[in-house]
Amino acid sequence: MSESDSASTQSRTCVSCGIDVSGTNAAVFDCPDCGARIHRCATCRKQSNLYECPDCGFTGP
Ligand SMILES: [Zn+2]
Ligand SMILES: [Zn+2]
Repeated sequence: MSESDSASTQSRTCVSCGIDVSGTNAAVFDCPDCGARIHRCATCRKQSNLYECPDCGFTGP
């Protein structure tokens, strides 16, 4: 039993609507500006909601 995913214990909330996305098929990507990890739930992805980086405030589609 090996836990290779040790760096994933941060909060996983959708940056657009703020729901807890842990255990869902949320999209995960890095902020193009500062590289912060950004989570986005499937609903917001489907609606193409804007996201805002919690770290630097970068917004994008
Ligand atoms: Zn959302
Ligand atoms: Zn950022």
